[in-house]
Amino acid sequence: MDNKALWEAILIRLAPSIGKASILSFFKDTIVSSVEGGVMTISAPTQIALDFIKTRCDVKIFQAAKEVDSAIKEVKFDVKGSLADQEHPSKVDIRLFRDLQVKKQGRKAPNKQEVILDEGMRSKMFNPNYTLQNYIPGQENRLAHAASLAVANKPGGIYNPLFLYGGTGRGKTHLLQGIGHEILRHHPNKNVVYMTSERFMNEIVEAIGKKHTKSFKEKYRRVDCLIVDDIQFFGNKASTQQEFFHTFNELYDAGKQIVLSSDKVPNELDGLEDRLKSRFNMGMVVEVQLPDYETRLAILNAKCMEQQVLVDPEVLKFIAFNVKNSVRDLAGVLTNAIAEAQLMQTTPTIKSVAASIRRCCNEEEIAELGVETSKNTLVVRNSEDLIDLVAQYFKLTRSDLIGNDRRKEYMIPRQICMYLIREVLDYSYETIGEAFGGRNHTTVLHACNKIVSEINGDSRIARDINALKKEIGL
Ligand code: ADP
Ligand code: MG
Repeated sequence: MDNKALWEAILIRLAPSIGKASILSFFKDTIVSSVEGGVMTISAPTQIALDFIKTRCDVKIFQAAKEVDSAIKEVKFDVKGSLADQEHPSKVDIRLFRDLQVKKQGRKAPNKQEVILDEGMRSKMFNPNYTLQNYIPGQENRLAHAASLAVANKPGGIYNPLFLYGGTGRGKTHLLQGIGHEILRHHPNKNVVYMTSERFMNEIVEAIGKKHTKSFKEKYRRVDCLIVDDIQFFGNKASTQQEFFHTFNELYDAGKQIVLSSDKVPNELDGLEDRLKSRFNMGMVVEVQLPDYETRLAILNAKCMEQQVLVDPEVLKFIAFNVKNSVRDLAGVLTNAIAEAQLMQTTPTIKSVAASIRRCCNEEEIAELGVETSKNTLVVRNSEDLIDLVAQYFKLTRSDLIGNDRRKEYMIPRQICMYLIREVLDYSYETIGEAFGGRNHTTVLHACNKIVSEINGDSRIARDINALKKEIGL
């Protein structure tokens, strides 16, 4: 397979998780410039494209590359400015992706990729979005994030074991998997195993039942980094604890990294043997805390970037302000709001997210933030009301809307407003013309016709109109 075919095969695998738009904008003019000794080098025409590819897609690229060619053990990146304007035999025709039907992946499926580890070991890894680069540390979790990075850069070093604890929905699993990703990024040949405590227990029970405990032990001896999530479930499970104790010791003595998470500090874990507690305390124990408002807002912004959607900053502030007790809920409300808006062809509004917060979370109160969240929709009595509403929606003033500026950002809202007045209030074209500073009725007629014809063609306009109609309860 030549480099062009290789890159094409990788990009096709990437498209569903990265999205067509990113492929078209960030992967344009990129090539696989060489594959030597298991090292594949990807070259991009600009630093911006390279940064995006490196920070957001490198793990995915590596996984896809391994699928296409199992001899690839490492991926490197560089910038080759000449790619921007020169033909190159390895360039992929990126236009292929314009017409590619990428099915939006379901909510669960993309997350559970199986990484095939060397020697036939398999690990249920990884949610591709749970990387340390995608984790927003904020003030509260700088230590947890820094410790995770340190472990990933130097597995088996001084932070061994690394024990992260904290309530549910705070980002423990994200950090744990991020460590796994990061180790594999630097050392693709290492055996990194991420598993839930439940899975570990099941394997032990099965091994004991089949009298295979020896092979169980051998299997885990080959692991370079063992990550076990939610070990609070080991409580009161004597035989599991015993096996885990031995596994732990063997790995630890061999200088292998162990990373654990639970909902409490080791000493407070119910039904856990003291000898395990003391092992867990040997390295670094760090709390994963709830993020503050600033961090919550940063997380929301990052999730919008990840999903490549634009959401009104006021709506994001409203979510960040109101969803305080779980980052999982925070992300969930945003995802819901985006999905709902896409379905209804509108954009998320404070009103719609307020409803979704009420449904999804146990937040006691939803703050008003100076906006009506529970009252009925706006009552429109005359054209003045609609002009105000449209102006506010597009962040313009009344005079911007009524005035004569013919730039697009004024013209379109103005035409939308005329159209709505006609639709909602059934005013004559003459009356509407008067409301807009004495314009001729033919101008209004033209505006209304233009919007009608564009509602079908331009989904942006359709979305805006739907959102506006929603505001007035239509
Ligand atoms: P836990 O394991 O503590 O219950 P998770 O790791 O499952 O929590 O996190 C829940 C969700 O919140 C995930 O989607 C995760 O990506 C997201 N999340 C949590 N903290 C952060 C953060 N600091 N930055 C970005 N995303 C985060
Ligand atoms: Mg978890």
